[in-house]
Amino acid sequence: MLAMQVTRAGAPLQAVDLPVPQPGPHEVLVQVLACGVCRTDLHIIDGELPPRHPGMVPGHEVVGRVVAAGPGATRFAVGTRIGIPWLGGSCGHCAYCGAQHENLCDTPVFTGYDRPGGFAEYTVADERYCFALPDAYDDAHAAPLLCAGLIGFRAYRLAGLQGRSRLGLYGFGAAAHIIAQIAVAEGHAVHAFVRPGDDQSARFARELGAVWAGASDALPPEPLDAALIFAPVGALVPAALRAVRKGGVVVCAGIHMSDIPSFPYALLWGERCVRSVANLTREDGEAFFDCLARHPVATHVQTYPLAQANAAVAALRAGAIDGAAVLLP
Ligand SMILES: [Zn+2]
Ligand SMILES: [Zn+2]
Repeated sequence: MLAMQVTRAGAPLQAVDLPVPQPGPHEVLVQVLACGVCRTDLHIIDGELPPRHPGMVPGHEVVGRVVAAGPGATRFAVGTRIGIPWLGGSCGHCAYCGAQHENLCDTPVFTGYDRPGGFAEYTVADERYCFALPDAYDDAHAAPLLCAGLIGFRAYRLAGLQGRSRLGLYGFGAAAHIIAQIAVAEGHAVHAFVRPGDDQSARFARELGAVWAGASDALPPEPLDAALIFAPVGALVPAALRAVRKGGVVVCAGIHMSDIPSFPYALLWGERCVRSVANLTREDGEAFFDCLARHPVATHVQTYPLAQANAAVAALRAGAIDGAAVLLP
């Protein structure tokens, strides 16, 4: 099968011919139908997340069809279309797993990082961590739901919005374009913060219902109740703190960020709160897909053939994608 592998930090992915993997206990063999390209894949390709295994195949927004089941795997029939997310396994017995925080597991298994992911024609996954997918989304449009949507949704829930609120979204890419639609449907006023001069993203945000869109160093017309930071830029933390009201929350939703510059304590004063979001739990996924059933969102995707994964990576890196980049084998 064709797979796109990480070779060394910062180098392009390399197309390789690998044997089709065999499913182990509780695993399914999946023919990949589509796989989203996430910012985290860039961090893995660039070595900003230290490599755990040589020759990793990235990709953790995998839409695929079950073609074989390993021993004990009975949850999905052969032929079922499923989604494989970033959390590919957890230990089940550490303190975090025991407290319904499997996203913080001490020995997690991440798809496309600890085990091969979806930048390939086939992959295997532990079926207990996979999701059934709504039929309303075709393969390409379902892919970004699996990380941008799902972890974006965890960040959105952790913002703790109550009643109609003013929500800021910093970085208007794959995650923000999904969460903006959910927030608008739930009655919140979405404020989109984009790279200064990125008029196209600002326009895209307004088309999706944002009441305000402006540069990330600008202040909103009124203080925000909460802000979600999806761009991997540490300088956005003090910028977002400046934009939220007393008691407001700033949620950092990415796995990696450039250093946060020092800032005056006055920005944090007033019981403002900064927190991060790490990974996902299976419960987040169930809650997210329930939410989508109530508030369908339209995902915007730009598709690339699997063999052109490097072009998709470059476009994402350049901020040239409205919505999400998706690879099609
Ligand atoms: Zn654990
Ligand atoms: Zn991701």
